[in-house]
Amino acid sequence: MAVSENNRRREDKSLGMDQPITRRDFLNSTLLASGSLLTAATPLQLLGAEDDWTGYGGVGDYSKSNGNTLEVLAAGHRIRDGEFDRLPANFIDTGEMFDCVVVGGGISGLAAALFLLRKGGKNRTCLVLDNHPVFGGEAKRNEFVVDGHRLMAHQGSAVFFVQYPHSFLGRFYDSIGLKAPRLQYQKWASPAKEMALSKTPYDMLGSEPATYGLYFAAKFSQKPGVWLIDPWGKKLEGAPISESARAELLKWRAGLQPEEKRPQYWGDEISRHLDSITLEEHMMRRFGISRETIRTFLSPVEGGGSGLGPDVLSAYADYAADMLHPLQSDDTDQMFPGGNTGIARLMVKTLIPRSIAGDDSMEAVCRNHLNFAALDQPNSPARIRLNSTAVWVKHDGDPEKSESVSVLYLRAGRIYRVKARSAVMAGGGWATKHVVRDLPQAQQGAYGQFYRSPCLMANVAVRNWRFLYNMGITGFRWFEGVGNYTEVRKTALMGADAATIGPDSPVVLPLKVLYSYPGLPIADQGHRGRGEMLATSFREYERRIREQFTDMFARTGFDARRNIAGIILNRWGHAYLNPQPGFFFGKDEKPAPSEVLRATPFARIAFANTDLAGIMDHRSSILEAGRAVGQLLDQVLTD
Ligand SMILES: Cc1cc2nc3c(=O)[nH]c(=O)nc-3n(C[C@H](O)[C@H](O)[C@H](O)COP(=O)(O)OP(=O)(O)OC[C@H]3O[C@@H](n4cnc5c(N)ncnc54)[C@H](O)[C@@H]3O)c2cc1C
Repeated sequence: MAVSENNRRREDKSLGMDQPITRRDFLNSTLLASGSLLTAATPLQLLGAEDDWTGYGGVGDYSKSNGNTLEVLAAGHRIRDGEFDRLPANFIDTGEMFDCVVVGGGISGLAAALFLLRKGGKNRTCLVLDNHPVFGGEAKRNEFVVDGHRLMAHQGSAVFFVQYPHSFLGRFYDSIGLKAPRLQYQKWASPAKEMALSKTPYDMLGSEPATYGLYFAAKFSQKPGVWLIDPWGKKLEGAPISESARAELLKWRAGLQPEEKRPQYWGDEISRHLDSITLEEHMMRRFGISRETIRTFLSPVEGGGSGLGPDVLSAYADYAADMLHPLQSDDTDQMFPGGNTGIARLMVKTLIPRSIAGDDSMEAVCRNHLNFAALDQPNSPARIRLNSTAVWVKHDGDPEKSESVSVLYLRAGRIYRVKARSAVMAGGGWATKHVVRDLPQAQQGAYGQFYRSPCLMANVAVRNWRFLYNMGITGFRWFEGVGNYTEVRKTALMGADAATIGPDSPVVLPLKVLYSYPGLPIADQGHRGRGEMLATSFREYERRIREQFTDMFARTGFDARRNIAGIILNRWGHAYLNPQPGFFFGKDEKPAPSEVLRATPFARIAFANTDLAGIMDHRSSILEAGRAVGQLLDQVLTD
């Protein structure tokens, strides 16, 4: 055996790669031992191999549904590569006819089903098709059991916001059983002195208080890396960065106050100006900082929440969410234990009462198991069919005269057809533009301007977070390696099995991995990031995460072998819409692409999904669904 391989094995052992925690129960150890299993293979090649791409999926309802699954990916690539461009032969006609088929069972698709049944009058029927093993889209959760404790974490969509009680969204929440949107969270209980903890994965990132750390490593010629704790209180003294970078970062920080010249409402002159420049240009002007400082320290985290760095995004991306969903108080952020999975589950419980065991309280809906069999029952007005990828959606005959739409979907290797009097495409632009076979040029052109980037949400369960407590931090940020930031979060009580938390409690640290390549065109950044995320094996990511934590925390008692209790990777190929300049209000005298899609349904087919809003936010998912269904009820389902 080569010496380097021996070394690698020794390193693996010290990192805990042999610990029986994550993927060993289903992996072929011979392939693993070769160490070369996946680095060269594409995800699709892996379908026939041992699965070191998916990795461990945790326990509970979502254990087979972490991020996009290999099956979802394979079906998506078959659509993209034109396999279903012609009407597939030998499909199985289910003989079913619905008032509406909704493609996409994320928050938008589920909301569309609810609106249809609530507003459409009696005896309406609706089928939701989703390609994953569980509904929810990006609003799904992971579950771990660590030393007897059940822990939950978000796979994507995390935070919801307390709405004005009489607003449309406030009433919608109430109608699905979110009666007390201000949740109760774990309380501190430990002899150790209390440290303030977040309720969401973003609280500390927003404020970077005295209990926050910045880590500077090889990129800053530091080996081992160095920590700067309370970076802003110390005015970055001690950070191994140049004087000019320090001065610029302090200017950036000081300038983070609400600006005088910010947009006042959607579409005002300032909004339109912001939409004509990149966020990077805007940050350079607003804060007086250089492109280099932005790209080294701030990108892609300060990127308008849109997955890529600010160099290719519209400056309006940073303001759009506040303009669309204005709230007066800052203290509105809330999080179910598994993120907005809580909202998706509440909607499904409302649509199909037997879908989740127990009553319809928030606690029961969060904790109890899904009843998968109840989701797709013939006598139910709402049905949810999982593991079903719509590959072909088309009006039967001339769209303007047709009475129905045919929807063909791929499920367990077979193609089925259902018919419907209308359809809502809620899966996202990247899928809709391929799947709707008779989509007119205008809508095709509009969706051609939607770019999406990938995101990997790596959830790392640790047996305790004393290694952070010992350093006096609960959150931290770094500038190279896997991810950029994470923080300890106290959990809402409805999903926690311990009402209290302290440094010896097990927690999940989420690492959000974004892929930005400043300087490349927007589409290329997305393609390249997706390629990298999809071609990297679970084992490789696991190794990098273990190395990174060891590098950062071995000095405060962290031992990857002992501390890491589990890792789940959630890979989202088309996680974020990336709005380029002109996305919101149009460019070169042409309308904004989303307005083309929102203006009217295409005959019997209407369009939803949060991407139409230009921001990724579950509130937009709901509002876009409401608009789409309203259009169908007014213009198509008029009887
Ligand atoms: C990492 C991350 C963090 C986020 N955090 C937050 C947050 O904290 N708060 C917040 O409000 N929002 C957040 N979001 C935004 C999130 O996108 C929305 O909250 C919301 O979950 C989107 O719901 P949706 O239904 O519009 O889209 P999706 O969740 O994408 O749902 C669409 C569904 O349709 C499926 N589909 C697509 N094509 C087909 C097809 N042909 N056939 C069948 N099914 C299909 C998709 O696979 C998916 O399941 C986050 C997003 C990401 C990626």
